Amino acid sequence: MAYQISDACVSCGACAAECPVSAITEGDGKYVIDADTCIECGACAGVCPVGAPEQA
Ligand code: SF4
Ligand code: SF4
Repeated sequence: MAYQISDACVSCGACAAECPVSAITEGDGKYVIDADTCIECGACAGVCPVGAPEQA
């Protein structure tokens, strides 16, 4: 399953900069991952300061 970003997200943008397939965009109050684009590499989870990206 693709990764999902929880409500813990503080919209810092670090994950979007790291995603190799540009699956992450800024949403309403938090960043969001396009499940159809995500290749489950885990890079977003590795750079997030608050552990918001989680594997669904
Ligand atoms: Fe992008 Fe990888 Fe995170 Fe999926 S797991 S959103 S491909 S950085
Ligand atoms: Fe949100 Fe974490 Fe991504 Fe920053 S790195 S935008 S806190 S999910």
